[in-house]
Amino acid sequence: MERIDVKSLTREELRRELEAQGEKSFRADQLYQWMHLKLAGSPKEMTNLPLKLRKKLEEQYEYVCLETVEVQRSRMDGTCKYLFRLPDGHVIESVLMRYHHGNTVCISSQAGCRMGCRFCASAIGGLVRNLRPSEMLEQIYRIQKDIGERISNVVVMGTGEPLDNYDNLLVFLKLLSDENGLHMSQRSITVSTCGIAPRIRALAEEELSITLALSLHAPTQEKRRELMPVANKYGLSEVLEACGYYFKKTGRRITFEYSLVGGVNDSQEDAKLLAALAKPIHSHVNLIPVNPVTERGYVQPDKRVIRNFKERLEEYGVNVTVRRELGQDIDGACGQLRRRYLEK
Ligand code: SAH
Repeated sequence: MERIDVKSLTREELRRELEAQGEKSFRADQLYQWMHLKLAGSPKEMTNLPLKLRKKLEEQYEYVCLETVEVQRSRMDGTCKYLFRLPDGHVIESVLMRYHHGNTVCISSQAGCRMGCRFCASAIGGLVRNLRPSEMLEQIYRIQKDIGERISNVVVMGTGEPLDNYDNLLVFLKLLSDENGLHMSQRSITVSTCGIAPRIRALAEEELSITLALSLHAPTQEKRRELMPVANKYGLSEVLEACGYYFKKTGRRITFEYSLVGGVNDSQEDAKLLAALAKPIHSHVNLIPVNPVTERGYVQPDKRVIRNFKERLEEYGVNVTVRRELGQDIDGACGQLRRRYLEK
């Protein structure tokens, strides 16, 4: 029988589970604190729990703790890339970015990904499996422990499509923002999707105050399909309608992520079309000079083209930023550390 992964249980579920084991309910609260507040690496550390319970946790339950395989630290800007091993041996990566306003961690939501975006290194090996809530949380917990500083922001923008792992994502968000755990403000959490329209609508109903980011990358259905196969299933207009619904329902502005690919989606006409999509729902546009992935042959536009593109959007009254490229001296981009590791 599969052992229960205690770190993926909500507080109520954990209470019920321990009560069924004949434990008093305050034991569940103590255990919850050890896992989600003190970020214990093993039940052995839980010194105020009876020895018998600690043993049970080790033997009858699964206590998920990620093993750090490798850390690359950038000398340029303090960005760190972590390669973690999951309990079943697969590896995933997470990134720590240090900003003036605090520490941001970018986590993976799946091992691999099945969305197949053409410019993305994570897509190359396909999907291995979904990550459980505990495995998403642990990426944050291990990094916070490693640096001994609070993580103030989380972006679910690493490997994987979070809305393709919807149920686990929701539990993860609940546990991360729970007042008895790290109690992260939902406003400090961003979930990025390639555009699974029905799930965007479902997410709008969950009464969360997270930020949603849509990976748009092209202003027409035709161009978008070339970069992102998911657009064949959920067309641009369907996705934009779902975003409009999300904004109306939650009042939260959506971010449009737009990777600028030289000669592909960086023309003045593209900027004009993009502005027309962003304005009606007051989206913020985040321009990302594409990270060249050797396997694909996509290149960054010239600095001048990027600047013109940004200025054009501003002329149309769109709120726009260009993402600063961090960690260029390490395997900084999307899924590249994990990929290099797998190749070895
Ligand atoms: N599946 C989700 C989240 C993971 S990807 C999504 O699609 O949004 C996080 C962001 O990085 C997405 O906007 C993705 O399109 C972008 N991205 C992936 N590879 C990239 C690359 N080589 N250069 C620039 N952006 C990239």
